[in-house]
Amino acid sequence: MKADLVIRNARVVRHDGEFHGGLAVKDGCIVSIGSDTALPEGVREIDAKERVLMPGLIDPHCHLGVAYPYPEDMRTETAAAAAGGVTTIILYIRNLKPSYLPFYEERKTLGEQNAMIDFGFHFGIQREEHIAEIPEVVAKTGVRSFKCYFGYEPDNPIGIVPATDGWVYATMRLLSKIPNGVINVHCENTQIASWLKNELKATGRQDLGAYTESRPAFCEIETIRRMLFLAERTRCPLHLVHTSVGMGPVLAAEARSRGIDVTVETCPHYLTRTCYDSDLDMKAKISPPLRDRDELEGLWRGILNGSVYSLGTDHVPFFPKKGDDLWNELPGVVSFPWELALLLHFGVHQRGLPLSRLVQLNSYHPARRFGLWPKKGALQVGSDADFILVDLEEERTIEHKGKGTCIYEGWRLKGWPVLTVGRGAVLYEDSAVDELNFGRGRCVTLPA
Ligand SMILES: [Zn+2]
Repeated sequence: MKADLVIRNARVVRHDGEFHGGLAVKDGCIVSIGSDTALPEGVREIDAKERVLMPGLIDPHCHLGVAYPYPEDMRTETAAAAAGGVTTIILYIRNLKPSYLPFYEERKTLGEQNAMIDFGFHFGIQREEHIAEIPEVVAKTGVRSFKCYFGYEPDNPIGIVPATDGWVYATMRLLSKIPNGVINVHCENTQIASWLKNELKATGRQDLGAYTESRPAFCEIETIRRMLFLAERTRCPLHLVHTSVGMGPVLAAEARSRGIDVTVETCPHYLTRTCYDSDLDMKAKISPPLRDRDELEGLWRGILNGSVYSLGTDHVPFFPKKGDDLWNELPGVVSFPWELALLLHFGVHQRGLPLSRLVQLNSYHPARRFGLWPKKGALQVGSDADFILVDLEEERTIEHKGKGTCIYEGWRLKGWPVLTVGRGAVLYEDSAVDELNFGRGRCVTLPA
C-alpha cells in the first residue's frame, strides 16, 4: 500500500509524550505512526527536518458571522485559522428564534460550502424555549454543548440575551442527564457590572482601564462560585469559558477535588496583555476585560500546574472599530493566526511549558470535552489526519491584514506553524494558504 502523504524525521509530540519518527496518511486518516523505518512509502513524502509534529489545534471558542456575513467569515477566518495551525473550530452561535433546528441546518450547509477546516457548534440559550428543546436538539443535531451568558446588560450592543439563574439551573438539570452534555458559562455578575458601569461612565473616563474597573475581577469570581454551586447541586458538567481571573483555576481545582466536573478555559490575550498596557486603547475592549499583571500571572500558574484545562481564542471579527466611545465600543479581537505562536513564545520558550502540555491545552482536552476524541485531537491510527509542523526557532513579526482588531501588531514571536494538514489535505505551506480547500471543511457536531 502506498500512502497519500508521509512525514518522516519529525519530533512527534502527543498529549502523552513524544518520540522521533513520523506518520502516514491515506484517505484523510492516519494509517501508520511510529519510527521512520516503520512507515510505508507515500505519494508525497515530507522531511520534517526534526521539527515538531503535533495535532492540529482545536479552537473550541470563536464567533463567526457576527458582523460580516457568515459564509464570508467561514472562508476568510478558516483560512486565517489554517495559517495559525488550527484544524477544527467550534463556534458559539446564537439564534433568537424559538428553535435551533432550522438554524443548525442552515449554518451546517453554509459552513460546508465555504469552510477550509472542520467546524462544529455550541448553541446559546437565548430564550426559555431553547431549554425545553435541548433533548430534541441533541438527538437531531449532535450538539451537546450549550452556553449561558452573564455580564451583558439587557441593552448591550451585540444583542446577547443575558441568562437568568433559573435558565442556568434548568439547563444544567437537563444536561446532567445527557451523555457528554456540558454547560458553558460566561461568568460575570450582570447586575454589579451594570451598576459600576453607570458610575464609571459618569466620571467621563475613556481609557481601557475604566472598562476593566467597571467589571472587576470579583464580578467574575462571584459568578464562578455561583456556577460551581449549581453544578454541584445538579451534577452537570461545567465549562468556564474565557476565564480572565487567576482565582478561576484555583476555585475549579478545589471543586474538582470534591468531585465536581468543571473545566477552565482561558484565552491567549489574558496571558499576554493587560488593560494598563500603554499601547492599548478602547479598541482592545474584550468581554470579559483584559485585567492586570497579577491576574495574568495567576492564569500562567494555572497553565503550568494543570488547573487550566484548555485554550480558546474567542476570535471575533468585527468591522474596523471606531475608537470614539469606550462604553459603546464592541468587545472582541481576532487571534486565530497567532494563538499558537503566542503560546510557543511566552509559554514554551519563556516559561518552560512542555510541548505535550501544550497539546493537551490546544487539542486533546478540547476534543475530550466536546466529544470529538479520538477522531480529533489525536495522533493515532484511525484518527483524522489533522496535524501541523512547527518550527520552534522561526521568528516572525505579526502584521495583521485580515478582518477584526489585532492587539499584537508588530510583536516579534519565536515559534510558528509552517505546515497545516486537515483531514490529509495540505492547507497551509510555504507561508501560504491553499484556497482550493474552501468548501472542504465538514461539520463535526452530527447526530449520533
Ligand atoms: Zn466568546
